[in-house]
Amino acid sequence: MTMEKGSISVQSQNIFPIIKKFLYSDHDIFLRELISNAIDATQKLKTLSNKGVIKTELGDLTIDIAIDEEAGTLTISDRGIGMTDEEVKKYLNQVAFSSAEEFVEKYKAENTIIGHFGLGFYSAFMVADKVEVISKSYRRNAKTVRWECDGEPEYAIEFVDSRARGTDVILHINEDSKEFLEKSRIEGLLKKYCRFLPILIRFGKRTETTYEGEGEDRKSISTEVDNFINNTEPTWKKSPRSLKEEDYKEFYQELYPYSQPPLFWIHLNIDYPFNLTGILYFPKLSQQLEVQKNKIQLYSNQVYVTDDVKDIVPEFLTLLHGVIDSPDIPLNVSRSYLQSDHNVKKITSYITKKVAEKLQSLFKKDREAYEEKWDEIAPIVKYGMITDEKFYDKASKFALLKNTDGEYFTIEEYREKVKANQTDKHDKVVVIYASQDHDQSTFISSAKERGYDVVLFDQIIDNHFIQHIEQKESNLLFVRVDSDTTDNLIQTDEAVESAMSEKDQEKVKKLFEEVLEKESSSIQMKAMTDKDHPVVITKPEFMRRMQEMQRLQGMGGMDMPEMHNLVINTNHPLIIDKLTKMRSEDKKQDFVKYLYDLARLNQQMLKGDELSQFIKRSLEFVS
Ligand code: ADP
Repeated sequence: MTMEKGSISVQSQNIFPIIKKFLYSDHDIFLRELISNAIDATQKLKTLSNKGVIKTELGDLTIDIAIDEEAGTLTISDRGIGMTDEEVKKYLNQVAFSSAEEFVEKYKAENTIIGHFGLGFYSAFMVADKVEVISKSYRRNAKTVRWECDGEPEYAIEFVDSRARGTDVILHINEDSKEFLEKSRIEGLLKKYCRFLPILIRFGKRTETTYEGEGEDRKSISTEVDNFINNTEPTWKKSPRSLKEEDYKEFYQELYPYSQPPLFWIHLNIDYPFNLTGILYFPKLSQQLEVQKNKIQLYSNQVYVTDDVKDIVPEFLTLLHGVIDSPDIPLNVSRSYLQSDHNVKKITSYITKKVAEKLQSLFKKDREAYEEKWDEIAPIVKYGMITDEKFYDKASKFALLKNTDGEYFTIEEYREKVKANQTDKHDKVVVIYASQDHDQSTFISSAKERGYDVVLFDQIIDNHFIQHIEQKESNLLFVRVDSDTTDNLIQTDEAVESAMSEKDQEKVKKLFEEVLEKESSSIQMKAMTDKDHPVVITKPEFMRRMQEMQRLQGMGGMDMPEMHNLVINTNHPLIIDKLTKMRSEDKKQDFVKYLYDLARLNQQMLKGDELSQFIKRSLEFVS
């Protein structure tokens, strides 16, 4: 055949500029597209061989990536099925072109394409001003053919000297894309996209250093070895039965080097009604800052697609780590399409179901081990319960409440535990909780002295979580241990009597009101025990929750004054004996202020200047 020239298609005149400009930041996907083609060609060859269509030895099927800096080329070579001259014309001029055109149409309409798959062979023109393809088909007597196109619609095709079976795609890298002639850049891309491809990929050579001899005689020996990029048999593709705990842990390290070992994992493996494999890990979330660093990676037949899986995995599970591989997730579509896609919906609920089942079985099989992990998995489970109805229904049976003694209970178990002692007049079981065990310790111990149990809710998500359980479980009510309602809500048998006369109480109340006129919203006299503090600050449960919610939603909530109530213990010796017996009015006022500051100190309300003033005054008192 003499050199044959042709024109790809009339419309292509406007497609090249679009392809060239296509998402500047994503130019690098050309490499994944071309390597995917090489993989496909190789796998087709293997299939033909398995079916007995090809009877000869297939030989080494490694795919080679090579940079020639001098020539300014990047070459992808495979030993796959190759193409005849007819096939080159058909596939590269017509199929590749029409799929590229289709892609560009979609891209123009939606502007965001998941994973940016689909541009295929023509993505080469994003980085090359000339592309050469040299190919020899596996077919008997096939001639080696060379195709060339310089980014304009014109192409040229000719026969050349025979070579080995397979295809070389040679990219003459353009001026703007010289970075793709750098070894480190290409190696980085290969590590990103090709880490788990099923056919070995080699990128030149690397030096391996070994040591020989001992002490002074010790010599280092450098040898050049093939630089392979990928693990062709990633753990998620293997049968769960063939894997041990260590294998899963090792794979986690392979995915996220130098990370803390995961808590546990779920091996996903389904092929009907959709195909999906993968491993999801529950990570140690103790270092909150790292949460977003290691993300779930989405693959399609072992080809890396993206680590932005939020439309496929329910949002609360995006905190998990690991890999999902599914050829059934449409990739060259927009996000809005993805959300309504049938398969994707099924996949999402399948993943949720699997996670719930795993947690359920851990809970049932080894409660102790489950409790040990609970604090770390709790944010994910709670987030799921808040955002996903179905998950709530399942998880409400294995979500745990932890009390201040470090004991764990399911919601139901806890209800049973405290119901006798902590039921209010509306028949609601009152769950008393602390949000920080050190800051609220006086309140916790006084609640406990009254025979109440206190649950710990110290995670960021807990405000929402409490609100949510209250909605779902209509017979539960949550009050914080320092709330003004804690004691009133619960019917106690033994009411404490006050040692002060009504009249004296009135006097003390007045004194507090005068001194602290602007400071608090209400002042209340109350008979507590003499073990309780003389003055206690409580906060309205409702107002406090509102403020916390606003703060969480970034609405500040700061401009609202801190609402709090003052409760004065009419059984405390400092009130009965000391305060009422003071003579000087000034001294009384100083003393009231001091007791008030002590109560504020107990509630972490004394900060900065006020705190220094308080310490100064305390020193004066004791000296
Ligand atoms: P897609 O891979 O999505 O079909 P492409 O534009 O990437 O679209 O490629 C078009 C066609 O060209 C492929 O379907 C395949 O038949 C052929 N082709 C591309 N690269 C190779 C290759 N390395 N070896 C053999 N055939 C190839």
